[in-house]
Amino acid sequence: MQDYHWRLLWLVIPTSLLSLALWPLFGADVAFGTFALIVLASLARHLYWLDKLQTWLKKPEPATIPVGAGVWEDVFSALYQEQRHQTRNQSQLVSALERFQRAASALPDGVVVLNDANQIEWCNPPAEQQFGLNLAQDAGKPISYLARQTEFIDYLQAQNYAEPLRLKSLRHSDITLEIQLVPFGENQKLILCRDISPMEKLDTMRRDFIANVSHELRTPLTVVGGFLETLQDMDGGIPEGTRHYFELMQEQSSRMRRLVEDLLTLSQLESSQNVPQETEVDVPALLDMVMAEAQGLSAGRHQITLQADGALYLKGSMEELHSAFGNLVSNAIRYTPVGGEIRLGWQARGAEAVFSVSDNGIGIEPQHLSRLTERFYRVDRSRSRATGGTGLGLSIVKHILTRHQARLEIESEAGKGSTFSAVFPQARVLRKD
Ligand code: ADP
Repeated sequence: MQDYHWRLLWLVIPTSLLSLALWPLFGADVAFGTFALIVLASLARHLYWLDKLQTWLKKPEPATIPVGAGVWEDVFSALYQEQRHQTRNQSQLVSALERFQRAASALPDGVVVLNDANQIEWCNPPAEQQFGLNLAQDAGKPISYLARQTEFIDYLQAQNYAEPLRLKSLRHSDITLEIQLVPFGENQKLILCRDISPMEKLDTMRRDFIANVSHELRTPLTVVGGFLETLQDMDGGIPEGTRHYFELMQEQSSRMRRLVEDLLTLSQLESSQNVPQETEVDVPALLDMVMAEAQGLSAGRHQITLQADGALYLKGSMEELHSAFGNLVSNAIRYTPVGGEIRLGWQARGAEAVFSVSDNGIGIEPQHLSRLTERFYRVDRSRSRATGGTGLGLSIVKHILTRHQARLEIESEAGKGSTFSAVFPQARVLRKD
């Protein structure tokens, strides 16, 4: 039996017994009247405490809770305990939140907390500076109303936050920000924002230095190379015993010239922020040119074939694509022994378009594959040098492809051969049927 039943019995049984006792002495009216009076008094008492409870609930504070009497004492005491428990929990939560906010405010990086509708819930002072926000006014507003750059909005909506976004600050154009979105909780997001201008400046200085050094070296190297050539061509210009040294000098000077040219190409590709010129590139015609150059380079030592889809064109930079395709083909020739086979292909693969160069040359062991596009990474340094390599070819290819939103796929087996494929996205492919 529950408390409620006992309380009911405690009210009804003694009241009924009293009424029954009064019945023979004073009659039924007095007995029923007494019964009704006691029940009414009990009801009035409950209504009184109910009213007290209602008044307290309008402003429920532990200090003002009524003491109560009888069952109401138990009720108010339970409420008092619950209130104290809640107040304690609340103050613990508030101090935890304050600690978190103090820590996040002390961070040098910007932090913005967004809710599931991308509205600002909270941000720290660096984020206020970087995004031009004012927490007091902007809390609850969608972040896209305040940080309006298209790249940022696209990044926010793309739902792919694996890579951070680099963005020029709207307020200070000389500041570059790196923005990383971190999803958490139920559809909430954390924006972490870092000022990477000092690193960018350092990177630009490094690039400028390489470009300047390469540029400065170009002229003296051309002069030295030119004189060496003239001397070699002159009848009796070089004493017979020293001819071999002159040949070595010429070989090294042209190697240096190739290095300088590749370094200049790389720094040009890196430094220009602008995307490649959006011209319509007749890839089949370009590949005819690449094919002719390949024949010249191979000088009949390899069997070279080309299979191209004549209706497949690209949007991009003719000059850059020529350089990338030429590099892949020259590698195939240089790393395929005499008598080998080299196949060039230009075909659609689903909505994408693929330029591939396959050879049955020396191939590459799997542990090198992921590092091939690093500058100066060579599987076999002496072989690369002997064939006139600079170690920068694939790095140039990778940069050009990235500027065309394309990717480089490499399949290779040591001793069997390699296939290098440049895969272009649908957005860059044109069909001329
Ligand atoms: P390199 O001027 O040395 O050829 P690259 O950047 O063009 O520099 O290529 C990097 C390295 O990748 C080369 O040194 C070579 O070891 C390897 N490589 C590139 N293409 C091929 C290929 N078709 N077959 C075998 N190895 C290759």
